[in-house]
Amino acid sequence: MRYYDKEQKLVKIVCNQCGAEAEAAGGLVHEDFISVDKQWGYFSKKDLEIHSFDLCENCYDRLRAGFKFPVDVRRQTEV
Ligand SMILES: [Zn+2]
Repeated sequence: MRYYDKEQKLVKIVCNQCGAEAEAAGGLVHEDFISVDKQWGYFSKKDLEIHSFDLCENCYDRLRAGFKFPVDVRRQTEV
């Protein structure tokens, strides 16, 4: 979950799974989260719904540990 102030500046991110919080200092968060923004389509049971959530790195690691096949991991060559 992302919290914004009146000027739409990011205030903090909260992990939807465990509740871990990361404050945003000047709009910058010093922890990384995975953010999902899914617009469900006609062929789903959630047509026209948009689901959004954030997971902290620990919860992401627990989620992907349950995958049958590992995630594709590539390295960025530039940051
Ligand atoms: Zn978490």
